[in-house]
Amino acid sequence: PGAPGRGLTAPSPALPPLRDVIRTHSLQASKALGQNFLLDEQLLGRIARIPGDLDGAAVFEVGPGPGGLTRALLRAGADVTAVERDRRCLPALAELGAAFPDKLRVVEDDALRFDAAAAIGAPAHIVANLPYNVGTALLVRWLTADPWPSWWLSLTLMFQAEVAERIVAHAGDEAYGRLSVLAQWRSDARLAMRVHRSAFTPPPKVMSAVVHIVPAAQPTAVSMATMERLTAAAFGQRRKMLRQSLKGVAGADRAMEVAGIDPTRRAETLSVADFVALARVMDGEVATPSA
Ligand code: SAM
Repeated sequence: PGAPGRGLTAPSPALPPLRDVIRTHSLQASKALGQNFLLDEQLLGRIARIPGDLDGAAVFEVGPGPGGLTRALLRAGADVTAVERDRRCLPALAELGAAFPDKLRVVEDDALRFDAAAAIGAPAHIVANLPYNVGTALLVRWLTADPWPSWWLSLTLMFQAEVAERIVAHAGDEAYGRLSVLAQWRSDARLAMRVHRSAFTPPPKVMSAVVHIVPAAQPTAVSMATMERLTAAAFGQRRKMLRQSLKGVAGADRAMEVAGIDPTRRAETLSVADFVALARVMDGEVATPSA
């Protein structure tokens, strides 16, 4: 008997093994499209659980490929909209959609062009195992969204481990930099899972990790433009003292004084909160930012 209507306990349709899906549809992995497929359904199930309970939730998946992660999301009860650039994958995804009536919509498009917010029309969790270059570009787009909080409820994204470490790094860590500040000044970012390269078919050269990001409950109201100017200048010369690296940034000297930040410090020692404190003073005091 089990609880009726619950995605996780509702009987899931039997699906062919992912290896068979790939063979039947001749989905040889394309290097150009960054295709490294995940076929381990237990692992895929664990990734699909990272955003939390997805029963009845809207999910946007980028790059479903043969549909391994997609089927895990559907089994969790999600309503999935997926954008895939490789049309060879569409028949396999259509079969998956037939097994979960009215739960999967696949759009053939480039995720870098696709307007997911408009297509979905409701807040959604974003889940993706993406080629790394596309993943970083989309991450930056989602993190710099305006207005804030954005249309997305959470991000669950596979990155190469080195990028994942940059996203979640703290002041003083080797990997700490612009991406860390961008990901953490109005979101909470954590490394949810490390994934060995051998989990992928074919295996990529480097290790991977899944990052989970949720918008912070109480974000600080500072402008994105100021944060970007500050972090670009500070980390552009990360080993220089701030009084040197922030020389060209209007209002930065005064902001360091007001915020009590020693100008002999270097960017990599400033916490995310320190950057926010500087930006806040600059937002309040600099009327028109100079170019
Ligand atoms: N989600 C599948 C999995 O986990 O096995 C496939 C992951 S594979 C790393 C990346 C997928 O993203 C491929 O299916 C590829 O065709 C697709 N892709 C690559 N670039 C894309 C883009 N710009 N827009 C949409 N999909 C893209």
